[in-house]
Amino acid sequence: MRHYNIPIFIPHLACPFRCIFCDQKIISAQKKVPTPDDLQQIVARVLSTIPPSAEVEIAFFGGNFTAIDKERQGLYLKAVQPYLQRGQVKGIRVSTRPDCLDPSELAFLASYGVQVIELGIQSFCDEVLTASQRGYTAEKAAAACQLVKKSGFKLGIQLMPGLPGDNRERISATTERTIELKPDMVRIYPTVVLAGTELAEMMARGEYQPLTVEEAVEISADMFMRFQRQGIDVIRVGLHNGEDLQDEGNIKGGAYHPALGELVEQAVFYRQTLALLKSYPYSLVEGRPLLFTVNKKDISKFVGYRKRNLKALQPLLAAQAVIKGVEATEGDWIALSQEGYEDRSYVLSRQDFLNRYWQ
Ligand code: SF4
Repeated sequence: MRHYNIPIFIPHLACPFRCIFCDQKIISAQKKVPTPDDLQQIVARVLSTIPPSAEVEIAFFGGNFTAIDKERQGLYLKAVQPYLQRGQVKGIRVSTRPDCLDPSELAFLASYGVQVIELGIQSFCDEVLTASQRGYTAEKAAAACQLVKKSGFKLGIQLMPGLPGDNRERISATTERTIELKPDMVRIYPTVVLAGTELAEMMARGEYQPLTVEEAVEISADMFMRFQRQGIDVIRVGLHNGEDLQDEGNIKGGAYHPALGELVEQAVFYRQTLALLKSYPYSLVEGRPLLFTVNKKDISKFVGYRKRNLKALQPLLAAQAVIKGVEATEGDWIALSQEGYEDRSYVLSRQDFLNRYWQ
């Protein structure tokens, strides 16, 4: 069943301060915080575009939901209850900071049908959290994750590789710590430098060097594979491609690409293809075209942006590569055979690739 979130952006509502990298008004392309009375209209409008068979959640993003004063939180949550009661919406998710939670707040959220809490952790490395002025420690962040899980919610962890003070080792340690905390889902947002933020000033003063898109793709692909190997759902890579992000001058640097998530999945497919070639159990017959078969929905991931994967692959092959897409329920697998030798087909699933052929 397809999952849809009905996003309700509450830009910067209840933020204790403006984080150095953040401008929710650019990210969400929304300037105004909706009132609880606006919610009926927002939800009804989005709901009318979603197929009735879909699984739907209402998602409060862009601020610190759990730090909003209780009365207003209650008004927001009450405003969406009719959709839950009628079964049009399965649940509610909220995103917040890890230092804005306590057991009584969690009990309050549960009483209104909130099922998922996403924490904007960014990093589990104290040096990065300090250099990025997040205002909490890695220990505090981990304790918040544990509290969310212990209280019966699904846990989402949002990570931001490439912040000040970050490096490959620290990103790797953050990924490991995230896996240990067993979240139900993660989002990976490689750092983007937005106009008007303190990060943009730091970059202009030469105090901060952001990741390039290429570095972000490589790093995110690595994180993605490590999470996927552990069965942790990566529900987003890269910022949502909102209208304001496209406006000239809003992005000053860093890892912004309108389809970063797709580039990351393409990078994973490329690595999986190399592993398939290495693990192919039959001898390849020289001169016979190599036949790669994938779920037809995965063709663009296999081929890569502007055929990048294919171009990188071709020189490694002794014959022409032929790509075939087929209808299939499952995705993320690649099969290899050779024309005229279709009986020597070998399929490498994503889990096999991650468990057996990737370190
Ligand atoms: S990162 Fe979160 S807490 Fe910081 S300014 Fe943005 S929305 Fe507010």
